[in-house]
Amino acid sequence: MLHKFSFLLKVLLFVFVIQITAIQAQQKYSKRQIQKLKTAAIDMAQSHHKKTQVMIDKVFSFAELGHQEYETSKYLTGILESAGFEIEYGISGIPTAWMAKWKFGEGPVIALGSDVDGIPKASQYPGVAYHKPMVEGAPGHGEGHNSGLPVIITSAMVIQELMKENNLGGTLVVWPGIAEEQLAAKAWFVKDGYFDDVDMCIFTHVSSNMAVSWGDATGTGLISVEYMFEGVSAHSGSSPWRGKSALDAAELMNVGWNYKREHLHPLNRSHSIFTDAGDQPNVVPSKASIWYFLRDITSEGILDMYNDANNIAKGAALMTDTKVTSRILGAASPRHFNKVIAETMYENIKIVGLPEWSEKDQALAIAVQKEVNSKITTGLSTELAELGKPRKEPKSGGSDDIGEVSWKCPTVTLRFPSNMPGLQGHHWSNSITMATPIAHKGGTAGAKVVAATVIEFLTQPSLLAEAKDYFENVQKKNGKYVQLIPDDAPPPIHLNKAIQDEFRADLEKFYYDETKYDSYLEQLNINYPTLKLP
Ligand SMILES: [Zn+2]
Repeated sequence: MLHKFSFLLKVLLFVFVIQITAIQAQQKYSKRQIQKLKTAAIDMAQSHHKKTQVMIDKVFSFAELGHQEYETSKYLTGILESAGFEIEYGISGIPTAWMAKWKFGEGPVIALGSDVDGIPKASQYPGVAYHKPMVEGAPGHGEGHNSGLPVIITSAMVIQELMKENNLGGTLVVWPGIAEEQLAAKAWFVKDGYFDDVDMCIFTHVSSNMAVSWGDATGTGLISVEYMFEGVSAHSGSSPWRGKSALDAAELMNVGWNYKREHLHPLNRSHSIFTDAGDQPNVVPSKASIWYFLRDITSEGILDMYNDANNIAKGAALMTDTKVTSRILGAASPRHFNKVIAETMYENIKIVGLPEWSEKDQALAIAVQKEVNSKITTGLSTELAELGKPRKEPKSGGSDDIGEVSWKCPTVTLRFPSNMPGLQGHHWSNSITMATPIAHKGGTAGAKVVAATVIEFLTQPSLLAEAKDYFENVQKKNGKYVQLIPDDAPPPIHLNKAIQDEFRADLEKFYYDETKYDSYLEQLNINYPTLKLP
């Protein structure tokens, strides 16, 4: 009897849940209601400004390189966990990677992500307009990746509140771009199925304006590959004839590729560093290795370059009677962004606009631009960028492994204004604004746009259907995803360990303590802005 009763109860509960779900699914929002929710989202993101500032400053102070983002991940997941997100740690075999999920009823699964890693030798005091490293030779946020997840987390908190208040169903997935500078995580996330059930993705990246684009992005995709040569060591002075130099092989590979370079298409780009060049001159190097980034605007082109590099490596090994092996360290498909999400987002960019810069902000920006001999010396952006549309002629440039995700679900990247125009990138000068009011205000503006845009997709299933239609019937009809990493390639989690270990103790002394100081500038005792050498 009791059994029967509990069965009945289960059936009743089931019917009840189905009905609730149906009501949620059927609920239609008028333009006015959506407008009201968006306004609330924008106001709430502004009211979270303090939290955004603390997160931006804190991650800046950790200054961690790709695959070494331990403090950063611990700190950010802590915040998400307190907000009720369920977190899967160490995804894809990457210790610093994670995926945070918060499900509220039925509705679309919306992924929100941004990168978190820094740049080697970019340590720099924020708010100071000339080169002044905090820790000489240490990593720093010379790309501004300290600001992206704070923007995302702020907007996620806002959306979460609005979903609860208004019974808006859906799932938020917050995730970090680990080791973006090495293009060495997103391809693994995608390969391992972490985006299989995601309906759309909004990614953010620091910039000098607020912008979004659709279609093929400016820039390239790439394959990152390291060639390891192995020879025979010998006394370089007494019996050099008995040695087979692995370094000779790596150098010959470099020479071979540099001849190849003359015949590359202008849209191709390639660069390399030696990762092992022997130990000391009197020992013939038995081991040497060279690491390449091979970039093109199509996946087919990237694979062609990879094939050529493999042949050159074999040739170099043959010339020196050494052995060669290689390993893929990263990959990024060329990016393609969603038209429907970009157009929806751009309307919100126009509503939010650029932050109001103070005279101090502008004075800092102009001083830095002059310091690095930039062609632009007019300070921070004061006019919004246009909506980015596909170029008639493709343009080469950098890569971003968000390209991997962009072929898995409808995706855009919001660029938000936390830095200044006219810098060269991957440089200490790119760190200067990244823990100042410029980064904080730009971050809040970005969070407003993300929150307002997500509200539109949560309230209008037809808009998400349009985004998916573009993804399936325009993007995938004209292009195709190629998995550039082999199925069995492990993620290169060894990268940057030695560098981070060398500096971690020194960097720890500079970690931001938000319980004692209102801002990181205050903790560092910086007079904002400091324009000239004392
Ligand atoms: Zn970046």
